[in-house]
Amino acid sequence: MSNGKLLVVSGPSGVGKGTLLREVFRSSSLPLVFSVSATTRKSRQGEQHGVDYFFMDKEEFERRRLNGEFLECFEVYKGGDWYGTLQSQVDKHLNAGNWVVLEIDVKGASEVKRIRQEAITIFIEPESREVLQERLRGRGSENEDSLKRRLEQAEAELTRAKEYDHRIVNSDLVLATKHFCDLLKRIANV
Ligand code: 5GP
Repeated sequence: MSNGKLLVVSGPSGVGKGTLLREVFRSSSLPLVFSVSATTRKSRQGEQHGVDYFFMDKEEFERRRLNGEFLECFEVYKGGDWYGTLQSQVDKHLNAGNWVVLEIDVKGASEVKRIRQEAITIFIEPESREVLQERLRGRGSENEDSLKRRLEQAEAELTRAKEYDHRIVNSDLVLATKHFCDLLKRIANV
């Protein structure tokens, strides 16, 4: 029997999920591990295969999808790229007693919660919509089309925050890290 837990973390693009999760991983004494997702999107500068994502072409993704290898998978940006959680990644970590963190979009999160009711869902919120838009524009890694899609997607995701078990506002990194770690401690003690 493992004591592993499944944590699902979502939040709109630009909310600073990555940075916050890195801080939480650094600060928490719990055995947190990321499940590396698969995606058909191109890798960004500095991203590594098997670390940030398993990058694959659409044919391979589709083959593995039909093969039932994903716990959940979705075309995150319409007409764009596919993202998916590999069942093998999740099981490997849960069986080792780790707390597996899935950083996935809202559709994926509700699918995981439907299949695995024991999953704990956490939504990372921005201080305000304006701050989020500023951050997305400032990121500079997107072309106009992709930015527009991300803004629309962010707006749609924000309306689903209430479906999550827990919500954390990421206005101040230190404070948000503390809130996140306190929440994990409470979960560990129940
Ligand atoms: P990015 O392209 O910026 O790395 O991620 C874009 C979006 O895809 C984010 O909202 C991220 O949470 C989501 N995402 C990443 N991996 C997965 C996954 O395995 N499944 C789902 N459903 N969404 C994912």
